[in-house]
Amino acid sequence: MRGLPGLAGLALHTEQVAQLDSKDMDFATWCVLAQRCAHWLAQQDVAGIVVTHGTDTMEETAFFLHSVLAPAKPVVLTGAMRPATSAAADGPQNLADALAVAASPLAQGVCVVFAGTVHAALDVQKVHGYRPDAFSSGDAGPLAYVEEGRLRVLRAWPQGPALRNAGSLPDAARWPRVEIVMNFAGAGPAIVEALVKDGVDGIVVAGTGNGSVHHALEGALARAQEQGTSVRRSSRCLLGRVLPQAGDRLPDAGGLSPVKARIALLLELMP
Ligand code: ASP
Repeated sequence: MRGLPGLAGLALHTEQVAQLDSKDMDFATWCVLAQRCAHWLAQQDVAGIVVTHGTDTMEETAFFLHSVLAPAKPVVLTGAMRPATSAAADGPQNLADALAVAASPLAQGVCVVFAGTVHAALDVQKVHGYRPDAFSSGDAGPLAYVEEGRLRVLRAWPQGPALRNAGSLPDAARWPRVEIVMNFAGAGPAIVEALVKDGVDGIVVAGTGNGSVHHALEGALARAQEQGTSVRRSSRCLLGRVLPQAGDRLPDAGGLSPVKARIALLLELMP
C-alpha cells in the first residue's frame, strides 16, 4: 500500500481471508469472510473494513455481507477492472478511495466503492465487462462520490436488520440449494422439472419485464411451489423492480436482482 495517496495517518491491519477468482466464489469462503468481518467490526478501535474482491461476483458478496452483518460501521468492497501491469491501473485509486470511505464517519453499512463512486450493497450491479467504471446502482443512484479522499454524500445509507446473523451460519455443506432459471422466448418447463427431480430447495426465476414468465415455465414453477420448492420471481431487467399484481401465481423477490434474490432465499431456507 506504500505510495497510495491519502493514507498517511491511517492505522491499517491487513489479513488475507482467501485468494480466488471471484467467479469461483463459494459458500465456505463467504462464511469465513462474514465471520472475520464480524470479528473486526466488534473491535472498538476499528472504524471500518475494506474487502478487496474480484469484480465478477462483488455485488453478491456485498449483498451477502449486508444481509448477515447489517453493520453500523462501513464495510467497503473494492477491486480493479485493469491489471496492475496496465498503463493506467485503476486498483490503487479504488483502494485509496475505499480506505477513505471506510475511515469516514459519514459512511455506514456495506457498500462497493469503484471509480470514485459509492454504491449500496442493495443496489449495486456490475454492468460492464471491461470499462473501469463497471458498476451501477441502477435507478436508485449512488450513495456518494469520493473526491480527493472526501465523501460527497448524495443520499442516506440503507440500513436494515440482518436477515441472518453471521455467527449462526451453518457449515457450507448444509446450505440449501437455490438455483436461478431465466425466462425467454420459447421457455419451457424442462429445466424446472429437472431441478425439482434433483431435489432443489428453491428456485429464483429471472423473469422478463415486470417479472413476467412464459406460461409453460410458469406452470412448472407453480407445480414446483405446490410440491414444496420455494419460488421467487425477479426480473432480468437491469433497472426498476418487479411490481406485484393481483393474481400473481409466484411471489416476487421484493425488488432484488436475480442473484441477490437467490442469496435472500438461501438465507431464508437455511437450517
Ligand atoms: N475475474 C476477476 C474476478 O472477478 C475479475 C476481476 O478481478 O475484476 O475475480
